[in-house]
Amino acid sequence: MNNPSNLLKRANNQCELCSGSDSLSEFSVDDSSKVLICLECHQQIHDQEKLDPNHFRSLSNSMWSEFPAVQALCWKILNFLKDHNWAASLIEQLYLDEQTQVMADQLKVLNSEQSSDIKTKDSNGASLNEGDSVTLIKDLVVKGAGFTAKRGTLVKNIRLTDNPLHIEGKVNGSQIVLVANFLKKVT
Ligand SMILES: [Zn+2]
Repeated sequence: MNNPSNLLKRANNQCELCSGSDSLSEFSVDDSSKVLICLECHQQIHDQEKLDPNHFRSLSNSMWSEFPAVQALCWKILNFLKDHNWAASLIEQLYLDEQTQVMADQLKVLNSEQSSDIKTKDSNGASLNEGDSVTLIKDLVVKGAGFTAKRGTLVKNIRLTDNPLHIEGKVNGSQIVLVANFLKKVT
């Protein structure tokens, strides 16, 4: 699978993670295995600050790919997000054979160096704590859940995650991950 056109064909000209088609590029999982990913996925994988967990809810489909390289990359992303219940339950279902697991473990992306002293802050720099209420400061498309959370939506009783950039809260009855920077604390 070293020939780019083969990869495009295998992937059906779509991102193998999210099915997007914007600026597709090859991501090398190891010397001989590649995954076709879109610009959005590329940016999120390479810059943890840009990572939006909701974007990767699509992994619930793509992790069933028959291609080990795709499985390995899905595993790595889910493992990074495993503090979120949905990701943890997906990773429990994702069985990798030994070779694929090695491939996943050796991936050089999304290796979290947890900096636990970084506080979770809203868009104004106010500290967010467990149980706080926040409002959304912009419309937010919740991928995978199939709705848009409107600007101004009140989210009560938020939960902090291990990632200081993200909180969890209930919107439209769904527990979703929210980027702290898109929130305003209600005091
Ligand atoms: Zn993508």
